[in-house]
Amino acid sequence: MTKIAFIGLGNMGAPMALNLQKAGHEILGFDVVPAAQESAKNLGIELAKHNIDAVQGADITILMLPNGAIATSVTKEVLGEMKQESLLIDCSTIDVSSAKNLHELAKKANIHCLDAPVSGGVGGALGGTLTFMVGGTRAAFEMGEPYFDVMGQKSVHCGDGGAGQSAKICNNMLLGISMIGTCEAFLLADRLGLSQAALFDVMSTSSGSCWSVNAYCPVPDVGPKSPADNDYKAGFAAALMLKDLTLSQQAASEVKSATPLGEHAQKLYQQMVDAGNDGVDFSGMIRFLQTKNIEEKT
Ligand code: NAD
Repeated sequence: MTKIAFIGLGNMGAPMALNLQKAGHEILGFDVVPAAQESAKNLGIELAKHNIDAVQGADITILMLPNGAIATSVTKEVLGEMKQESLLIDCSTIDVSSAKNLHELAKKANIHCLDAPVSGGVGGALGGTLTFMVGGTRAAFEMGEPYFDVMGQKSVHCGDGGAGQSAKICNNMLLGISMIGTCEAFLLADRLGLSQAALFDVMSTSSGSCWSVNAYCPVPDVGPKSPADNDYKAGFAAALMLKDLTLSQQAASEVKSATPLGEHAQKLYQQMVDAGNDGVDFSGMIRFLQTKNIEEKT
């Protein structure tokens, strides 16, 4: 049994903490928002009054927070109270620079550190089937691996501090671009009088095949079940895709990497969110592009 402090008990954090608890670990959670505290308590997660109380004596501290600024300020608050040589795992999706900074801060405090953002969404958090993309030393990764195995089905050691966040934003930049491309192909097919089922049959087994076509098709009643079959209820919300695309563009400009399609994808998801679709699944881009078709035609 390991003593684990879990800070940030929202949509992702609460079920992740619960899976660790079910596996026999002792969890002491913390969240600043009363509603999140209440629902974590209802799930049976014990809560600390303050983040410092949660981390004292813990072998592992896990963060699942909204962004880099919050992850940094929480880390600064708790580091001095953590057990020497214990492990800090930041599972939040944050910018690469902040992630690298967390590693620096932890090193100075004699704390092991991993950046370990996830893929798999709320369903993956509930089912314990997340994928972890992990940055940090090999020794720290080996300390964290048994816990990733409880919360997820795969963890990949991507490299040094920050490598997990880098992998996450590169993957999601490609996902955003491929989803928009997939939506465009299906909309064009429709206007050309081609059945979307026929196009799926072709693309899913041809050179256009990709996860957005094959596993998460944005057209209702085509391909395996996806949010398109449930009125685009998220799944993975457009606002979260926008967040990840924005992080990709921030990183790209810091290292001067040309990502013209990533930049364009970020702009389109910004427009989709600005049009009031922040909670809609990101595959709902197809409906947003359709409104553009109609606007441009009239
Ligand atoms: P969420 O908003 O539901 O949860 C974040 C929690 O952090 C909230 O309960 C909030 O009250 C809490 N919090 C904020 N400031 C705090 C502080 N100072 N101290 C303690 N708690 C604090 O968000 P989520 O959907 O659970 O996502 C968490 C992270 O996981 C984000 O970085 C997100 O980008 C990433 N992520 C989310 C998904 C998804 O599908 N929801 C998928 C992959 C990655």
